[in-house]
Amino acid sequence: MAAQETAEHKYVYDFAEGNKDLKDLLGGKGANLAEMTNLGLPVPPGFTITTEACKAYLATGAEPAGLAEQIAAHLEALEREMGRSLGDPQDPLLVSVRSGAKFSMPGMMETVLNVGLNDRSVVGLSAQAGGNDRFAWDSYRRLIQMFGKTVCDVPGEEFEHALDDVKRAKGTTNDLDLDADDLRGLVDAYKKIFSKHTGREFPQEPREQLDLAIRAVFESWNAERAVIYRRQERIPADLGTAVNVVAMVFGNLGADSGTGVAFTRDPASGAQGIYGDYLANAQGEDVVAGIRNTVPLQELERIDKKSYDELLDYMARLEGHYKDLCDIEFTIERGKLWMLQTRVGKRTAAAAFVIAGQLVDEGLIDLDEALHRVNGAQLAQLMFPRFKLDHEFQPVAKGIGASPGAAVGKVVFTSARAVELAAEGESVILVRRETNPDDLNGMIAAKGILTSRGGKTSHAAVVARGMGKTCVSGADELDINIPQRKFTVAGQTVTEGDVVSIDGTTGKVYLGEVPVMPSEVVQYFEGTLDPEQTDDALVQAVHRIMTHADARRRLAVRTNADTGADAARARRFGAQGIGLCRTEHMFLGDRRELVERLILAATDAEREDALAALLPLQREDFIEIFREMDGLPVTVRLIDPPLHEFLPPLEQLAVNVAVAQERGEDVAKEEALLAAVRRMHEENPMLGLRGVRLGLVIPGLFAMQVRAIAEAAVAVTRSGGSACPEIMVPLVGAVQELETVRAEAERIIAEVVGDSGVEVLIGTMIEVPRAALTAGQIAEAAQFFSFGTNDLTQMGWGFSRDDVEGAFFWRYLELGIFGISPFESIDREGVGRLVRIAAEEGRAARPGLKLGVCGEHGGDPESVHFFHEVGLDYVSCSPFRVPVARLEAGRAAIETTGSDSR
Ligand code: ADP
Ligand code: MG
Ligand code: MG
Repeated sequence: MAAQETAEHKYVYDFAEGNKDLKDLLGGKGANLAEMTNLGLPVPPGFTITTEACKAYLATGAEPAGLAEQIAAHLEALEREMGRSLGDPQDPLLVSVRSGAKFSMPGMMETVLNVGLNDRSVVGLSAQAGGNDRFAWDSYRRLIQMFGKTVCDVPGEEFEHALDDVKRAKGTTNDLDLDADDLRGLVDAYKKIFSKHTGREFPQEPREQLDLAIRAVFESWNAERAVIYRRQERIPADLGTAVNVVAMVFGNLGADSGTGVAFTRDPASGAQGIYGDYLANAQGEDVVAGIRNTVPLQELERIDKKSYDELLDYMARLEGHYKDLCDIEFTIERGKLWMLQTRVGKRTAAAAFVIAGQLVDEGLIDLDEALHRVNGAQLAQLMFPRFKLDHEFQPVAKGIGASPGAAVGKVVFTSARAVELAAEGESVILVRRETNPDDLNGMIAAKGILTSRGGKTSHAAVVARGMGKTCVSGADELDINIPQRKFTVAGQTVTEGDVVSIDGTTGKVYLGEVPVMPSEVVQYFEGTLDPEQTDDALVQAVHRIMTHADARRRLAVRTNADTGADAARARRFGAQGIGLCRTEHMFLGDRRELVERLILAATDAEREDALAALLPLQREDFIEIFREMDGLPVTVRLIDPPLHEFLPPLEQLAVNVAVAQERGEDVAKEEALLAAVRRMHEENPMLGLRGVRLGLVIPGLFAMQVRAIAEAAVAVTRSGGSACPEIMVPLVGAVQELETVRAEAERIIAEVVGDSGVEVLIGTMIEVPRAALTAGQIAEAAQFFSFGTNDLTQMGWGFSRDDVEGAFFWRYLELGIFGISPFESIDREGVGRLVRIAAEEGRAARPGLKLGVCGEHGGDPESVHFFHEVGLDYVSCSPFRVPVARLEAGRAAIETTGSDSR
């Protein structure tokens, strides 16, 4: 290249100078064009202006020194190579100007083709093409259209309307029916549109066209749509875009020319074969623009066998080279094939697994690389049933996709009705404004949950995710009337018994029944689909990659489960124990009455009575769970929520009392309950009398639970099983709290366990910031820590979980204060730092201290990687997320050496 370049910063690279690893500098498109050039594939010559030039331009508002000269030098070299010069009236060289950032980004400036054409060179172009006037004028009108729209912001519809007008006048809808005169007329019309909107004539000077187009690409980096997209996808804002200047080749020269796209495998299913579309006598965007019907790529074999064979050969070479699915853009100019773009292609979740498996079979990649190329989000997607939406179904509302899946059922508005109808074998969707712990039975009975309020961390969302049940929350277009058992939406009224379909992935709500397909991946995890027996390529690939993830991971994966049934399912899904068994549900349903007695107890004897009645019930619950988890650890959390949550709401009690008094009935009990609820009312229940505080205030409560756990463990072990309970004390903030509970618990355990050989560990949750910061002291009294990252996030940020997400998180996301809710993915710097400190100081005080996490974060892909890094022993998550956590734990383990292929 030109000599002066050596003296200054290099802003321009010829295709022959780059390669695929220079995406930061040359953008994805430029780096891959260079790679293909160096592979010897037929790429039209060209050069790439670097992202650094873009950044310099955006920082100063002017082209950096030397850029114009370097472009001129490369252009000159290009002209020499092509034997033509840009816009030469007799024999013009034309170029395309194409944006290309490191990551492909909608909202960036699109391409301008045919740069270099003007009123004079259009004639030369026609001569070049053997007197093909039609082609020349078609190319010119495309230039004005693309240049006007993308460089000068002329509204695109105006050009489209003008084109439609010409077609209408001609009585056709096909642009191929337009002849040279029509297109010459169209150029005039386009020029008028151009000058009307820009206040100037269409630029005739080729180099000015080129410079303006390059500048427009630079500036499009900061276009609003691009900025929003980057924020959503968490793409750094300071990468800048490269610009590619490529010699034009023409697919619109006649029937022996055309343009197309191709995939080396099916990006939808991953199946091997030839996938793509071809359009004869067309240029660039026409294939995707849908202006004419494309033909399947296979047809090209008939149309132009030589080019077809050549294309297949290049596709195979690209796959072998990139060791992955590639997508390709190509153009055929009078029987000569040109490659215009390639990249590692996007694919569906299913295809990601299938292709990774195939590439291992083909010896192109190893299993570590296959594991690296899939992720937990894709696996989660594959685990939910899906709607078949190739129908006329239109959503009537869109809420938040709070828990993925596709659920169809009859609408019910109360928990009781949900339970009733479900018992009759009906599928129901529980519709509530928002849910609370009283709705638990209804949620269990329902196929899906639909609420008009609350975000991804509302009660409905969190509980539904825990159950692996579909939930759409915060569908605020729904006007719900519970007493009348109906809601209205989009001018329609839906009453109890009407069927709705909800999509927990997209948050969309449909009226009527949308057909659903079950997930074969879940059948595999459930053990009902044998990977050795099936010919389902997806199941085989998932099996293979999961097996490898399990072999590679260091983190164990446990589950959050409160019942034997959940425990059993989680075990099938690969859980290696229970990391969180909540005991609150053991105080619900028909046991409420006992809890009321406990709360209302006026004397020690009454309280002890109530506890004694609860003991055998809890023991039975634990026996069931220990049996299911035979031989695996089960972490039981002592009761955590404030006790008044188990009493009826204040308003309801007040009404009951008033009504009963009116009727002259005996209201002593209701009055006592009402008084208790009033007395126990808290302004901030999440910061009130709960967790370990309950255990310290209500004599005998924790003791009863500890006894039930120990007795259940002994019973299971005596009957030949093996129970490994770990008792977990919630909400500890000071070591003294834990020491007090522990002293009593150890006394009881020693008494119950005797010589049965049962061993019971006692540990604590770390969920209050103070606990994290005094972890060294707390570890002296704890045999394990389990991070309760939900509360730790709540108290670390001072966010009331049930309130904030719906109230203002959207604004925080918009402002970029965080990229994702900290309740969904752990905030590494803040809350994560608390985890890190506690892990380090805890282990320093007690080497080998067992560390786990039991918040929702335990099943979040990003967070799993963090917990791996911090050195936890296990993560615990809801049963459905267990496979996701296994996969991500495996990916985290190999990632230290992982490549940057995604
Ligand atoms: P996008 O990133 O939107 O795909 P491209 O820069 O790839 O934009 O260009 C849009 C279309 O124009 C593509 O079909 C591409 O193949 C075609 N194209 C780009 N440059 C040339 C060229 N030099 N000759 C012929 N067609 C081109
Ligand atoms: Mg392209
Ligand atoms: Mg908690």
